[in-house]
Amino acid sequence: MNNCENLRELILTDYLDGEADDKARAAVDAHLLQCADCRSLLKEAQEGFVMPLETVAREAVPAEIWISLQDRISARTSWAERLREFFGHMAGEFSYVKLVPVLGMAAVMLLTGPVILQNSRTIQAKEKAQQEYLVGLLASSGNSSEAASDAAANPIEEYFL
Ligand SMILES: [Zn+2]
Repeated sequence: MNNCENLRELILTDYLDGEADDKARAAVDAHLLQCADCRSLLKEAQEGFVMPLETVAREAVPAEIWISLQDRISARTSWAERLREFFGHMAGEFSYVKLVPVLGMAAVMLLTGPVILQNSRTIQAKEKAQQEYLVGLLASSGNSSEAASDAAANPIEEYFL
């Protein structure tokens, strides 16, 4: 079968890059299932070409950052100096004036948070009590006749209004 010749270019280009469309990908997948030669070709291509590129890309950036970090760390002598630098930097970036509204908001939320929570719990409890009252009324009046239901509606309305 001449299929290998036709598919190899595709395997080594778009299929390898993950850019083959669904139809081409399906054709290659189907061929790879039955062709050990093309499987090993793909494996070699992945190991020889794609993986080294990915490894380089993954390691290049951290190495760069690490070297520049090492330079900066070794340039300083003590932790105190580093801390002073850090907080000096912080003070420069976020001035105290900018922090005041933020701290104010945080304080307000801390103070009102529990109150709001407490209120919502009270409301929930009240709603639960109302529901239980309603259920109790309906249960005691019974659903045997229309007249009984109408009679039960009046105390319910009185309770809520
Ligand atoms: Zn093949």
